Amino acid sequence: MSILIQNGTLVLPDGPVQADLRVDGGKIAQIGPALPVDGSEVIPAGGKLVFPGFIDTHTHFEMNKGQVNETADNWETGTRAALAGGTTCVLDFAEPDHGCSLQSALDEWRRRADGRACCHYSFHMTIVDWDRRIADELSAMTRQGITSYKVYLAYHGMRISDGVAYEIIKAVAQEGGIVGCHCENGDLIDASIAELKAAGKLDPSSHPLAHSAVIEAEAVNRWLALAEQAGYPVNVVHLSTQRGLDAALLARSHGQALYLESCPQYFTLTDEKYQLPGFESAKFVFSPPLRRQEDVDALWEALSDDEIDTIGTDHCSFCYGTAKQLGRDDFSAIPPGIPGVEHRPCLMYTYGVNAGRINVLQMMKALSERPARLFGMFPQKGTLAVGSDADIVVFDPEAAWTITAAEQYQNVDYTPYEGMEVRGRADVVLLGGEVAVKGGRVVREGLGRFVPRGPAQFWR
Ligand code: MN
Ligand code: MN
Repeated sequence: MSILIQNGTLVLPDGPVQADLRVDGGKIAQIGPALPVDGSEVIPAGGKLVFPGFIDTHTHFEMNKGQVNETADNWETGTRAALAGGTTCVLDFAEPDHGCSLQSALDEWRRRADGRACCHYSFHMTIVDWDRRIADELSAMTRQGITSYKVYLAYHGMRISDGVAYEIIKAVAQEGGIVGCHCENGDLIDASIAELKAAGKLDPSSHPLAHSAVIEAEAVNRWLALAEQAGYPVNVVHLSTQRGLDAALLARSHGQALYLESCPQYFTLTDEKYQLPGFESAKFVFSPPLRRQEDVDALWEALSDDEIDTIGTDHCSFCYGTAKQLGRDDFSAIPPGIPGVEHRPCLMYTYGVNAGRINVLQMMKALSERPARLFGMFPQKGTLAVGSDADIVVFDPEAAWTITAAEQYQNVDYTPYEGMEVRGRADVVLLGGEVAVKGGRVVREGLGRFVPRGPAQFWR
């Protein structure tokens, strides 16, 4: 059955164009003005924006599985929420246990996602151990379509040394992949937490103090130094500060190729949330934390200058009523993370496009095209082009609504965006050419497929 999306404003690679788009056999078959209906099912899209399906570069579903701090969203609920918001592909993080192979993590994450996911998916592979055995696995990962990796400069059990980070960048370069890094100085976080606890400052308002701007900026600078020495581009995930941004822009001014990801929370909320009464601020405990208005403004300027490459959510949902309460008496025991996979498109549309800070083409590039390129899925995904996969969002820019936990698909008891009035909503979503969302409601589930990816496609 073919589908004709009629009279929409297609957000094409060079900008918005009013035209029709036909989908057939799961692919985009035709793009042009006034295409004949020819027996296709018609989706009227007058007044709507038509985007290539949005790709979330950063999610954590079913994390800490089986533990007391397991995330609230699993592969079913998380990808259902993603799809409802217009996200047709997520890149989650596969995490091997210490002493275990990368293959064991890939197998486990596929077991969790295969047959359950409502949108397409792949995984960044987290590297926590580094030895000959792990290094030898990289080519097998490439053959199975895993071409992106993640390392941490903070968190016990995750963090690696500078020397190991350097070796990993060089090894991944041999595969044509890309390594992203959680950039915070782990030693300084530990020292700050110890000081705050010794001073009896145990409530959530201490969290941002233990994750200050300089703690991010130092690690961004160090990560980029390791990459410069390795002679290969890297990704910085969830950039949150003006100072971290300054470090990256300085490296770029010296000719270094690097990529920056940021997240909707750093564009739409500020650190005033840590002054909320009682334990309420725990809803906003994640790392890096919310920042000052000056940081928010700097990130918007960088996005409008095309200096920030991709927008992911870092969706990592913990229920306020249960998991977050683990840190009731000690802020450092609050599981860090927030939900958001459902709301990235409407937030970036409302506060970006509708507010005049970026245009629809910039939104498309940050949410679809550049994620697809950097993570080896382009032009199969990330673009409206003949022959590309028919993962498509018909987005209603006039829809005015209010984000509430009560009405969200995310399987968690709150949203950090509660009560925010937004503009724009995914009206119809096609996944592999099938109508999976209609009128903003999920109508087809379980259509998600693992996406084997190729090498990173660099444009910097
Ligand atoms: Mn992180
Ligand atoms: Mn993360």
